[in-house]
Amino acid sequence: MEAKSLPIMLFDERALTPSFGYVFDPKWLDPFESIVSILWKLARMNRLSGQAITTQLAKSDIDPYEGVAACRSEVDLCRLHLTLGLPLKLVWDSVLPDALQATAGNHFRYCRKCLCRGYHSVVHQVGTNKCCPVHGDPLEIACRTCGAKAPYRLNVALLDAPYRCGNCGHLYGASPPVSSRNMRPFNKKARIAITRLRWSYFAYF
Ligand SMILES: [Zn+2]
Ligand SMILES: [Zn+2]
Repeated sequence: MEAKSLPIMLFDERALTPSFGYVFDPKWLDPFESIVSILWKLARMNRLSGQAITTQLAKSDIDPYEGVAACRSEVDLCRLHLTLGLPLKLVWDSVLPDALQATAGNHFRYCRKCLCRGYHSVVHQVGTNKCCPVHGDPLEIACRTCGAKAPYRLNVALLDAPYRCGNCGHLYGASPPVSSRNMRPFNKKARIAITRLRWSYFAYF
């Protein structure tokens, strides 16, 4: 008897479907959280690898080690919205508009205090913005321990090193971020500061 051919399903194709049983709660997010911050929380809470996540992000087949730029033309935002059950607007706002991509720094830019609470914002990536809107601290690019800079691309190297330098492994912040489950949202003043800055940079995108 001729054997029936079974559909081939790669592990990565199942990795981010709801049937896989991942958890993600929109309450873990603060305003204008970056896509990197969202994916780090997803990876951390579900023990997903950067490779599994990266292969789900792009609009076409990509090398997960090369990854994609964190911009709207390269990331499959609809898929992310459906997969994570997050509002499309929220996912849309987590990446810089392509028009701003040219002015954005090529490297991951961060506020140490924000990373301690597990937060990285899309406004941190705007190249002309030098300070964190919440803390007022200068944004940093290089790791304080080894000086390495991480390219701001959604790839295995960045997604497999949440809140830490992918080169030396040291945390970017002074302490590990609190668990998303125990995270308390930013207060009203902080939320207004982030929202104002975001609108000042890209109100119409
Ligand atoms: Zn901050
Ligand atoms: Zn380092």
